Amino acid sequence: MLLADYRPRSQLVSKTTPVIKPRFPVIDAHNHLAEPFGGGWDQKPVQDLLNTLDEAGVTHYVDLDGGWGEDILNAHLDLFKAKAPERFQVFGGVDWSQWASIGGGFPEWAAGRVKIQKERGAQGLKIWKEFGLHVTDHKGNLVKIDDPRLIPIWETAGELGLPVMIHVADPVAFFDPINETNERLEELGAHPDWAFTSPPFPAFMSILEAFANLVQRHANTTFIGAHVGCYAENLAWVGALLERCPNFFVDISARIGELGRQPYTARRFFLQYADRILFGSDMGPYPEAYRVIYRFLETDDEYFNYNAAPIPMQGRWHVHGLYLPEDVLAKVYYRNAERILLNKG
Ligand SMILES: [Zn+2]
Repeated sequence: MLLADYRPRSQLVSKTTPVIKPRFPVIDAHNHLAEPFGGGWDQKPVQDLLNTLDEAGVTHYVDLDGGWGEDILNAHLDLFKAKAPERFQVFGGVDWSQWASIGGGFPEWAAGRVKIQKERGAQGLKIWKEFGLHVTDHKGNLVKIDDPRLIPIWETAGELGLPVMIHVADPVAFFDPINETNERLEELGAHPDWAFTSPPFPAFMSILEAFANLVQRHANTTFIGAHVGCYAENLAWVGALLERCPNFFVDISARIGELGRQPYTARRFFLQYADRILFGSDMGPYPEAYRVIYRFLETDDEYFNYNAAPIPMQGRWHVHGLYLPEDVLAKVYYRNAERILLNKG
């Protein structure tokens, strides 16, 4: 038998607490509606989507797919935002591919586009992981996260009150050699293009340090570090950046597997930084995906699959619930997002 075919069944006798509806209404600060991450809801009736969100107890849904380009941004504003303005927040982005043709004036041009996106209805900026790994300037040089030429973009976002949802580098294992010690080996086998082994790619920590510089340099701009601040494997590092930078927030999307395999540290992290953590799924608007997160946040269930898929996709381990107190749940589920994303409260 191949190790890949091994399917051990846990004989642990422990409780299962289904959480069908969350304890409080949920604002999902990190999700998608287009392929490849959102399940193609741009092809289905909006009312179906609203019904699905109602079933999951989600009142507001941040759609980050406008960050792929302004055509998509405009399409999503027309398709979703226009039909249910309260329930959808669509984020725009930076079209790095224009740097080659625009040349040295790119940063000012990109800052101008951010203004236009906001006028059109965008409520934030999504920066995808290509930044720091693939984005190059007009001379073909790799652009660092804290490149000072880009200051106009980040300052403009701050002046306009647009939060910047940013994902860099993470997860750390994608930078490791692909061998028998890599804890994400199976995932890299399925998606070889997700590997950023360094060299030739920059070292993981050099990207993270540049990210920390960026957040620290722009104190008037709100940054949301996607997937637990882009370093869920090291909550001490994320906590230190939260301490240094009051303009820094994190979402928990797609990292229940990381948080739930360090339940003591994760629970302390939630209690300590309860005002700085946003709920996010990143799994499309599916009730069964949301319910795994609700169970993780609300119950003290032990050793359960953090995925809806039979074999957990981000590593073959299971997680433990955090049984967070009510006040922390309220902040994480909606209060922090009301403040940061909806300018309420
Ligand atoms: Zn995402």
